[in-house]
Amino acid sequence: MLLADYSSGRRRSMKKYKFWNHGSVECGKGWHSLIEELFEKIDELINSNSELHDFQLLQIKEKFGKLTIYESYCDDRIEKLLDEYCNRSLEICEHCGNNGKLVVKYGWYQTLCEKCFDEK
Ligand SMILES: [Zn+2]
Repeated sequence: MLLADYSSGRRRSMKKYKFWNHGSVECGKGWHSLIEELFEKIDELINSNSELHDFQLLQIKEKFGKLTIYESYCDDRIEKLLDEYCNRSLEICEHCGNNGKLVVKYGWYQTLCEKCFDEK
């Protein structure tokens, strides 16, 4: 199950997350399983903390080679999860999901494995 592949089946599978507003997901598919894991964790947290029921994630994107997520309001517990997963993105190739590192390619920060870095 991947997020940014907007085939109809996939869109449906995303609807189970009430905190996701179906905003844009602007990152490579190498990070999708990381994002899915994060969504599961947030879902658990919200389900066991009723005060978080209005929480929403607004946008997911790549920024300076790092997974970046915008949310509707700050909560320390969710903030901690977002930090953890966004930091983990700096070790995962955004293109293919293998181990990667932050590099500069064509003047842009990107997190890539060696193979994807060498590809045009
Ligand atoms: Zn790669």
